[in-house]
Amino acid sequence: MHKLKGIKRLNKFLINMKWDDGLDATVKIAELRKACPCEECGIARNNPPNPLALPVIKNGEFEIEKVEPIGNYALKFTYKDGHDGGYYTWDLLREICEANALPPDEIERLEAAANSDPTPQSNHCSGDDSKHDPDDPRCCHDIPD
Ligand SMILES: [Zn+2]
Repeated sequence: MHKLKGIKRLNKFLINMKWDDGLDATVKIAELRKACPCEECGIARNNPPNPLALPVIKNGEFEIEKVEPIGNYALKFTYKDGHDGGYYTWDLLREICEANALPPDEIERLEAAANSDPTPQSNHCSGDDSKHDPDDPRCCHDIPD
């Protein structure tokens, strides 16, 4: 099993994960949310809504409020719409990384989009080490061995 070494929120759209075998994957936070392991989301995935109904996207659904390491095997994400979706084990995170890692030009495009968004981005350092607060559970995490 692969082990997660660190997680960094790059901006409101993107999160970066580094693994013990050197995999360095940046994925959309929306992909994390779509893979939410909680029961509620599992049921929703297995019962797709009426295709004729308009999709409802909740405000903050695809933004992260808080990241919490759970022991040495999982992370818990709390989303800005208030959803805290169960435990994302290393195995699940690895699957998400392998299936959704973005190519560099797509990362650049989303970085630019996030930078041009005037909404202030709270609770994390956006990868800027001088603003990083290791004691703040809402910020980035290195995963200890
Ligand atoms: Zn969920």
